[in-house]
Amino acid sequence: MASAPPLPESNSPDVEAMGAEELLRWGYAEFGDQLCLTCSWQKQSSALVHMVAELGLPLDVIELDTHLFFRESYETRDRLVRRYGLNLIQPDVLTVAEQHRHEGPNLWERDPDRCCHLRKVEPLIAALEPYDAWISGIRRDQSPSRAETPKLQWSERYGVWKVHPLVDWDEQRVWAYIKVNEIPYNPLHETGYRSIGCMPCTKPTRPDEEERAGRWAGSDKLECGLHVEAPAST
Ligand code: SF4
Repeated sequence: MASAPPLPESNSPDVEAMGAEELLRWGYAEFGDQLCLTCSWQKQSSALVHMVAELGLPLDVIELDTHLFFRESYETRDRLVRRYGLNLIQPDVLTVAEQHRHEGPNLWERDPDRCCHLRKVEPLIAALEPYDAWISGIRRDQSPSRAETPKLQWSERYGVWKVHPLVDWDEQRVWAYIKVNEIPYNPLHETGYRSIGCMPCTKPTRPDEEERAGRWAGSDKLECGLHVEAPAST
């Protein structure tokens, strides 16, 4: 696996001190069209798609589609594509029928780590091949496993720099940004789904629960594996 390439001397500022827009501008100056944005059509996707468009950054947008998203997530994608004219990259993912044939039915019920690896991690590894850097919308306050996430991070697994413009935003700040800028967003957020993934593994949460409590509810699983460096089960 590749080791982290050094950033040019002239471009080694204190990224932790940068705001979201400044970090995106710096990322584009540093990586150019080798920088991409990933989206799963939750509220962070809406905020970042708008921010990138406002800054005039012509970035590719990789859709993290597992073919098991909610109808509302696909409709949100379509609204954002219409409004912002995204250059959408859609990675190859094995069909649900193929997965049933090779792994047995409903793998997400028996081995969700393997299901996430097949439907999320492997497609993203392939999709990131042409890029040097990846913008993700994860936030430190989403879960304890994300609490130490820096704004810029080398990923051994993907062989890219990860750029996290919203990492120090809280949920309220994301919503304020969406509302004040009148950005299209996933309507499931208004029906108790504070965090939205695949249909079989996402439930609404109560107001007193953590933001990601509805993901793999009732199990120990906290992460899909996209943002951890240790390999998921294969
Ligand atoms: S979130 Fe659930 S359905 Fe989606 S890839 Fe992971 S285990 Fe499979």
